[in-house]
Amino acid sequence: MKGLRYSIRLKLTLATLVPLMAAIVLCWLIGTSIITTRFFSQAQQGVETDLSAAHEMLQGELARLGDSIRLTSRSPELSAALISGPAAPALQVVLRNERLSFLTLVDRFGFVRYRAANPGSSGDSRRDDKLVADALKGAAVSGIALLAPERAARENPLLPGQMRISILPTPHSQPYTRQIEERGMFLVAAAPVPGPDGEVAGVVYGGLLLNSDRRLVDRISRVVFRRGDSVAKDAGNTTIFLDDVRIATTVPDNSGQPAVGSLMSAEVHAAVSRGERWTGSAFVLNERHFSAYEPLRDYRGAVIGALYAGMPERPYRELRWQMNLIFSTVLFFVTLVGIGLSAWLGSSLARPIKALEEGVRRIAASEALPDIPAQGSDEIASLAGEFNVMKRRLAEREEENLSLNRTLEQKVIERTAQLEERNSQLLGTQKELAEAERLAGIGLLASGVAHEINNPLAIIRGNAELLELYTGEGSGGEEVETILRQSGRIERIVQNLLTFSRSGIKQSRLFSVVALLDGILDQVGHQIDLGRCTIARNYRHRVLFMEGDEEQLRQVFTNLVVNALQAMDGQGLLTIDATADTETEYLTVTVADTGQGIPAEHLKDIFTPFFTTKPTGTGLGLSVSYGIVENHGGTISVASTPGSGSLFTVTLPLSSPPPLQ
Ligand code: ADP
Repeated sequence: MKGLRYSIRLKLTLATLVPLMAAIVLCWLIGTSIITTRFFSQAQQGVETDLSAAHEMLQGELARLGDSIRLTSRSPELSAALISGPAAPALQVVLRNERLSFLTLVDRFGFVRYRAANPGSSGDSRRDDKLVADALKGAAVSGIALLAPERAARENPLLPGQMRISILPTPHSQPYTRQIEERGMFLVAAAPVPGPDGEVAGVVYGGLLLNSDRRLVDRISRVVFRRGDSVAKDAGNTTIFLDDVRIATTVPDNSGQPAVGSLMSAEVHAAVSRGERWTGSAFVLNERHFSAYEPLRDYRGAVIGALYAGMPERPYRELRWQMNLIFSTVLFFVTLVGIGLSAWLGSSLARPIKALEEGVRRIAASEALPDIPAQGSDEIASLAGEFNVMKRRLAEREEENLSLNRTLEQKVIERTAQLEERNSQLLGTQKELAEAERLAGIGLLASGVAHEINNPLAIIRGNAELLELYTGEGSGGEEVETILRQSGRIERIVQNLLTFSRSGIKQSRLFSVVALLDGILDQVGHQIDLGRCTIARNYRHRVLFMEGDEEQLRQVFTNLVVNALQAMDGQGLLTIDATADTETEYLTVTVADTGQGIPAEHLKDIFTPFFTTKPTGTGLGLSVSYGIVENHGGTISVASTPGSGSLFTVTLPLSSPPPLQ
């Protein structure tokens, strides 16, 4: 069941609809079955009652015939005629008036004295006839009789023709080989004719042919079923059967005529021929009827046919169908209303639940969500209310978390930036330290060498001066002078080396940096050919004092200016700037030139002692400057673009720190 997901709406709809439908269908089934059973059984009972009525009417007809024969037998004319003379006029009148098929007078010995319907035939004995024999015993009797055509012809020559009935093939009947029914079914009655002495002088008997005679069945149908004379298809019917052949009936055939000659269904015939009454639904011709049959017995008691009363089931079936249709239509509309109602109920219940589901989904997906409408006062509404409260709390918490996260993120970013800055500072410091260490090593070596050179140099210089004294202006004077000049140079180098190694003693005092720079720039023309070089003094601060060794710093700035002018080779712009930062208490002097610049691979070497690219250079200018600036607690750096120029930046504290140990 995991794969299947039924919505609450469907469940609610089903839950309301299924019992409702079951109840309706059950009611419908029970209702229709009760009604139809009731209808059908009432109709069946009605038919059975009708058969009893028909039976009574048949008996009444028989009694009427008996009465009329008995009345006729009382006629003095007849008793007289039996003694002497014809009885023709009296019997003829009765035959005609009573529409009898035959009327016959026999004497007390059973011989026929006169046949009103066949006056030419007389003298035969009718003693064997049970009816006549019983009447001769003095009782008026009546009953039903079957007569063969020859026998009937004797009574009335017209009868065989009237009796003949063509048998029609009928569905559901037993198979039949005969095609004609020639026998005739008669209502017969006989009454004794009293003689003058009160003895039975003879018997008068008469008969009424039932074959093809609609009068009786029409009358029965009229009385029992209250129908007109016409053969109506859906009305109740009466039939008289001879054996299983309809000889008189109101049942219509397909052409609307009485279905005389059609046959009883085999099932019914089997029961009736056993002398049993049969009731139920039977095929009459080709349609089912509510039916009731009772056997007809002849005067001797033998079953010779049947009396039937019945009515077609079709109108009832149609009624049942109409009823079912009405019930079904009602059921359908009730179901529709039920579906609509339960769907409405289901969706009104499911809507907030669906909204809750959507809400939970959106909360899980961190999406924005408006409040779920919580109308009404049922559990779902209170659930929706609680949900809204929960949602708001969640949103508040999320907001708190968000701001906390933001703060944390901000802090992380800040700390990372700080860390990066510290890191780069550390790297720079490491680099500077390594450089300082390297230069310090070199400085140590240089100072050692300088010390060692100082003494022999002093001796060389002393001896050279002695030599100069002795030789005077004479020969060799020029060489001595050269020795003295070169020794002087060595002395300067040694001095520089000592300065570089910070062995030089710093004599701090307050002096004007601007005045110092101006002095250098004013004098530099004596040291080096300026050519067409331009010098720009862009001092941002005109008055700028600092504490330090003025002479050492003069050497630093002179070095930078001379290097710049040399790099420009007599053409270009030398720009000097001096500025102070009162906050940090540092001053910055920049020396920029538009000269050849420094190749990238040389940048790391230019502060190294003895590194030079000039043929007559010593390579000590920048290294010494580096030592001096560092000794003052400052820094010196360079930026250069080969072909465009270089920029040297010197940063110094305004007040001199104590000398480094
Ligand atoms: P020297 O001037 O005797 O060569 P320095 O120590 O003063 O010794 O300079 C070292 C080297 O640095 C120079 O030989 C030169 O190659 C380079 N240099 C210094 N200043 C400049 C500059 N302004 N422009 C180009 N190169 C320079």
